[in-house]
Amino acid sequence: MEIFRKDAGKHTVTVEIGDITLLDCDCIVNAANSSLLGGGGVDGAIHRAAGPELLEECRALHGCATGEAKITKGYRLKAGYVIHTPGPQYFGRKEEKTLLENCYRNSLELAKEHKIHSIAFPAISTGIYGYPFEEAAGAAVTAVQEWLAANADYDMQVIFIFLSKKEAQFYKTLLAQPQREGS
Ligand code: ADP
Repeated sequence: MEIFRKDAGKHTVTVEIGDITLLDCDCIVNAANSSLLGGGGVDGAIHRAAGPELLEECRALHGCATGEAKITKGYRLKAGYVIHTPGPQYFGRKEEKTLLENCYRNSLELAKEHKIHSIAFPAISTGIYGYPFEEAAGAAVTAVQEWLAANADYDMQVIFIFLSKKEAQFYKTLLAQPQREGS
């Protein structure tokens, strides 16, 4: 269920409540771990919904560093592609914010390379990896807004999707604020 939409130029940003594995968009992002061999949380749900071919393709990728991103097909998902990005585990170190922002930036960059025009993000690192939700939301929104500003001529819909209304509401509030000059 969509609770927020902002259209600006070639970009649309929406906030939705729901299960990312059911989304009908070009690409969904998986909060993976660096092995890319599946795990719990959203990663497990995506692998279950996509089917065993996804794991097979992931095996051939030989892992992925934290903050980087790799792409596969979506198999049984409605989404044509999955972008896998391992978020940082949260220990409270300064570099974790940069790594989390890199997940969003690198996913968007990889999407553009593959001519993807709609991409859905879960709240990377905020489950098993323990990143405080509100802090992670700030990093996610900043990274996405900066990337969109730097890619003003590229058609892109960014969907932020959450299981809970409370989480979605928090993003809605952040995104409804006027953007700072230069960001
Ligand atoms: P991480 O290891 O990066 O913390 P998790 O999968 O544990 O990844 O959690 C990331 C976020 O994804 C959490 O906020 C969790 O509630 C959410 N999540 C889990 N399953 C789904 C799903 N099917 N659709 C959307 N979000 C999900």
